[in-house]
Amino acid sequence: MEEKLQHLFNECKNELYDIGIDIENKNIGNISISIGKRNCKRYGCCKQEQPIESTKYIERIGRKKYIKYKMYASHKIEISKWVMDLKPNIIKNTIMHEIIHCFPNCSNHGEDFKKYAHYISYKLGYDISRLGDKNSDLMASNIVPASEKYNYKIQCTKCGYSFYRKRLNCNFSRNYRCGKCGGHFITAKGEFRA
Ligand SMILES: [Zn+2]
Ligand SMILES: [Zn+2]
Repeated sequence: MEEKLQHLFNECKNELYDIGIDIENKNIGNISISIGKRNCKRYGCCKQEQPIESTKYIERIGRKKYIKYKMYASHKIEISKWVMDLKPNIIKNTIMHEIIHCFPNCSNHGEDFKKYAHYISYKLGYDISRLGDKNSDLMASNIVPASEKYNYKIQCTKCGYSFYRKRLNCNFSRNYRCGKCGGHFITAKGEFRA
């Protein structure tokens, strides 16, 4: 699986080179890529390391001041395990997203990130700026999403409309009415899959 990831990463690198972005450029620093150890909901992440002192700046958010850096000498990209089962173009979309985080001033999803995301999406046919939708990406890759487990089923006694919740306030049926018909709810505790 690591080999497949390296291969797709190299494809991304070559595609970027063809549109004038050389990720081996010294302004970007060293990028390494691996498969995430923990299984998490996120598609991937990019850890910036070795900040370049001369690019230090202070950002103020409200009263607080944060020390930030525009450039880092080292970036560690991790792609989540479950993403590796998706279609190659969706995996590459994720890789491209994380590569942009390695560019100067792109560690967040700010203006510079967006500029690159638009340029690369436009030139190479990706859809990088979007937040991924796990379920639709799984389905596009012919994988059936695991159904979620819920502890409560709530049903309207009047119109029958029902939905599920993991947690439920004990006063729920007293405090809420059906949004569709105004009827009362009954709640059932158990194990539900939806
Ligand atoms: Zn991101
Ligand atoms: Zn109802």
